[in-house]
Amino acid sequence: MTIKDDFQDQDSREKFIQDLSSQELHQRRRVPVGVLGATGNVGQKLLMLIDKHQWFKVTAVAASEKSQGKSYKEAVEWRMPVPLSEEIGELEVMAPEPNLPCKIVFSCLDGNIAGEIEQKFAKNGYAVISCARSHRMDPKVPLFIPEVNMQHLELLKFQNFPNRGLIIAKPNCAVIGLMMALRPLQLEFGIEAVHVVTMQSISGAGFPGVPSMAIADNIIPYIANEEDRLVEEPAKIFGTIDVDHIEPYPMNISATCTRVPVTEGHLEVVSVKLKEKATLEQVKRAFKEFSSPLEELKLPSAPSYPIHYFEENDMPQPKLQRDLERGMAVSVGRLRPDSLMDYKFVLLSHNTVRGAAGGAILIAELLVKNGYIFW
Ligand code: NAP
Repeated sequence: MTIKDDFQDQDSREKFIQDLSSQELHQRRRVPVGVLGATGNVGQKLLMLIDKHQWFKVTAVAASEKSQGKSYKEAVEWRMPVPLSEEIGELEVMAPEPNLPCKIVFSCLDGNIAGEIEQKFAKNGYAVISCARSHRMDPKVPLFIPEVNMQHLELLKFQNFPNRGLIIAKPNCAVIGLMMALRPLQLEFGIEAVHVVTMQSISGAGFPGVPSMAIADNIIPYIANEEDRLVEEPAKIFGTIDVDHIEPYPMNISATCTRVPVTEGHLEVVSVKLKEKATLEQVKRAFKEFSSPLEELKLPSAPSYPIHYFEENDMPQPKLQRDLERGMAVSVGRLRPDSLMDYKFVLLSHNTVRGAAGGAILIAELLVKNGYIFW
């Protein structure tokens, strides 16, 4: 069927989803999902990770005007390390309009255009999981990392979109690794201040991203707007729910962000001042014993251990640890006392998996498991 012709109105879309549920999805109970910005770096990674997912079926892909009307395989310059699935390759690339035959949309759109489009989808009853920055600081939008601030899902009941529409934002890719590593310390000792220097991979800038002549044999000591995000997003993520909004967690953060010639994986050098005094052994134990609050839920993309702690002096390294637990875990090492703050350490997280596509899929799994998605 030519999807574009058949979905001019809401009723026909609903009917398609119903037919899809009864004919194809019912037995397998897979939720129809769409990807906005499907031809981009994160969109491709998401399609690669979600293909053959036992809970989800990709039924729609959308991108810019230059790609619309083509089949996905014609429109995309596929750069993933596994072949493009035939089924996804045959989908027609559509406009990012809320007439797509799906229930969940993953927004992998550029931040400059994502905001309005995501609103439109939520107003039309879609569950929007956004990798873009547009809604991250909206008071009623959870800025969400399942292992860190599960209770923030409470905000969804104040969003008031019709037909169970909702928006959840995934934090900035460098913020996700930082927050996952800080979470055990915040829980056990409280955090007063953080100083972080990031070494962020090239893939964080999309494709083609940073010109090769600028990044080869080089480090660029600036990433536009990135430091602001590292300062503003953490306080919301660690914040506490006060009825319909989040009271930010009081914590000083100073950040310097750099771009380094690594393809995937953000490395971050962190110094932390704790609210309560703790010994080195206690801090180490907090990292090592941090267990996943998702354990019982058995979500397919959840890492068994959100944090992997390394004793070796020269770990973690992007090349060696970025793919741990399919790129969903954060690696921590080089823990030692800090003469300015209390302790310092190094962390590593996969920016396009844990920091983007994989993190978004994990959120979708949690929403399904917790009954937020009906299809
Ligand atoms: P990208 O490679 O530049 O891809 C952008 C996508 O948006 C493409 O599919 C493009 O379609 C589509 N697009 C652009 N303008 C459009 C328009 N006017 N209407 C509809 N579609 C449009 O970017 P990316 O690296 O995948 O990043 C996507 C989002 O994820 C961004 O918001 C980014 O900040 C965020 N993010 C990225 C990372 C990372 O590590 N890369 C991590 C976390 C979050 P065409 O191909 O048709 O132009």
